[in-house]
Amino acid sequence: MPTTTTAALDSFNPATGELVGSVPITPAPEIPAIVARARKALQSWGSLTAQERADIIRPAGKALADRAEELGELLTREMGKPLAEGVGECRGTGEGLSEEVDEIARAVAPEILEGEAVKTTLYHDPLGVCAAITPWNFPLAMPHWMVLPSLVAGNTVVLKPSEQTPLIAQAYADILNEVLPEGVLQVVHGADDQGKALVAADVDLIAFTGSKEVGQKIMQAAAGGLKRLILELGSKDPLIVLEGADLDAAATFAARNSFRNCGQVCVSTERIYVQESVKDAFMDKLIEQSKAYTVGNGLDEGTVIGPMIDENQKNHVVAQVQDATRKGARIVFGGEPRDGQFISPTVLDDVTHEMDIMKTETFGPVACVMGVKDIEQAVELANDTEYGLGGAVFGPEDQARAVARRLTSAMVGVNRGLGGAPGSPWVGAKQSGYSYHSGPMGHRQFCQVRVVSEPKAE
Ligand code: NAD
Repeated sequence: MPTTTTAALDSFNPATGELVGSVPITPAPEIPAIVARARKALQSWGSLTAQERADIIRPAGKALADRAEELGELLTREMGKPLAEGVGECRGTGEGLSEEVDEIARAVAPEILEGEAVKTTLYHDPLGVCAAITPWNFPLAMPHWMVLPSLVAGNTVVLKPSEQTPLIAQAYADILNEVLPEGVLQVVHGADDQGKALVAADVDLIAFTGSKEVGQKIMQAAAGGLKRLILELGSKDPLIVLEGADLDAAATFAARNSFRNCGQVCVSTERIYVQESVKDAFMDKLIEQSKAYTVGNGLDEGTVIGPMIDENQKNHVVAQVQDATRKGARIVFGGEPRDGQFISPTVLDDVTHEMDIMKTETFGPVACVMGVKDIEQAVELANDTEYGLGGAVFGPEDQARAVARRLTSAMVGVNRGLGGAPGSPWVGAKQSGYSYHSGPMGHRQFCQVRVVSEPKAE
C-alpha cells in the first residue's frame, strides 16, 4: 500500500500484483494554492450561463466514448473488474454525457414563481469551489457523478480520486481538460492526508462518495466553515422475496446483485430475507445461478467477477464469513479459499442478525439468506440497520409495492433493481447519505439558491 511519504503514488493490478503506473503525490501543503487557483478560475467560469458551460464540456463525451476500449483496459488493470464492464463504464459515461450536460443546464436554469402581487425568480447560482473526493469501485463513473454536475452548475472543482485508482481518474480529468479553461478542473493525488488537506482548504462544497466512517470525519472537519456537503456513503441493502414471487427472476437478481463487481458496489444485495414457504425453491435457484460467476483476471475471457481491490478488503470478507459460520451459518455454495486477492462467490444459509455479516457492510461476493415467517418479520429485519441506501422486493405486485413503501431505504426496486427512470435522484437515507445527486433535484444540490422577488407588473 503506497504512503504519502513517497513521491510517487503507485497503482497495482489487484489480479496480478503488477505495477500499472504511477502519478506524483500532491504534497498536502500545496493544496491550499491549488484551491486558490480554482477560486480564481471561478470568476469567469461561474459567469457563463449553464448552457454555455454545457456546450463547452460536450465534446469530452465523444472523446471518452471514442477512447472507451483503451480507457476500459486501464480501468480493468487498475481496479480488476471484467474488461467488458470496464469498457462499459467508460463508454456509457461518454455516450451519456451530451444529454446529461443539457439535463443539468435545464435543472439549474432560473425558475419563476408568481403570487397575486409578487413575482419571484429562483436562481441556481454556483456554490464556489467544489472538492470532489471519490472511491475506487467505479473509478471513472464516481468522479464523473461528482464532477460533471458541479462543473455545469458553474463551480470549479478539485478532484481527489481514490489512492487505489489514480490513473483512470487522471485520464478522465485529462479528457475534460482538453476542453475546459485552465484551473476549472484540477486533480490532487494521495490518500487520507490529501483528503484532509482538501477538506480543510478554502472550498465551499465537498462532494464525497465513500465509506460512512470517512463521511463522518469529513462532516466534522467541515463543520467549522459550515461547508456544504454531499455525502454518498455505504450500505447494507436488503432483498425481500415474498411468497408468490417469480423465483427465477428473484434468484437471478439476487446472484447478480450480490456478486457483480465482486460485491464491491454500494447498492449490492447484502441481506436476503425469503418467506419460509418458498425458501428451499429459491435457494436451489440461487445456487444454480451462482455457478455462472467465474472468478478470474478481468482481462481474461470468461471472467465474470474479478479480484477484491486489496488484501484488507479480502480479509474483511473472509473474517465475516468465518464469524457467521462459527455462529451457525452454513456455506451452501462456494466459500473455498483462493490465492491472491481472489475470493469465491459464496452463498450462506441460516444467517442471523447476531452475525457481523448482517450488520456491517461486507463489500464482497457473499449472498446471505435468512428465512422469515411472514411479511411483518421481513420488514422488521430489513429495516434493522443503520444504513438506508437501496433495497428490492420481489413478490406479487401490490404486495411487493406495499412492502417497498415500508422500507427505510431511500431507493427500492419492485420486482427489479433500484435504478430509476431518467430524472430520478441517487439518494441515501439514514447513515447512507446526506444530500444527494443526479436528476434535476440532485443537480440543484451543487448550487446556491438565491430568491429575488419584485412587485408583479399590472
Ligand atoms: P473510503 O471512505 O475509504 O475512501 C473514499 C475517499 O476518501 C478516498 O479518495 C480516500 O482517499 C478519501 N479519504 C480517506 N480519508 C479521508 C479523510 N479523512 N478526509 C477526506 N478524504 C478522505 O471509501 P472506499 O474504500 O474508497 O470506497 C468504498 C466505500 O464507498 C463503501 O463504503 C461504499 O459503500 C461507498 N460507496 C458509496 C456509494 C454511494 O453512491 N452511496 C457509491 C460508491 C461507493
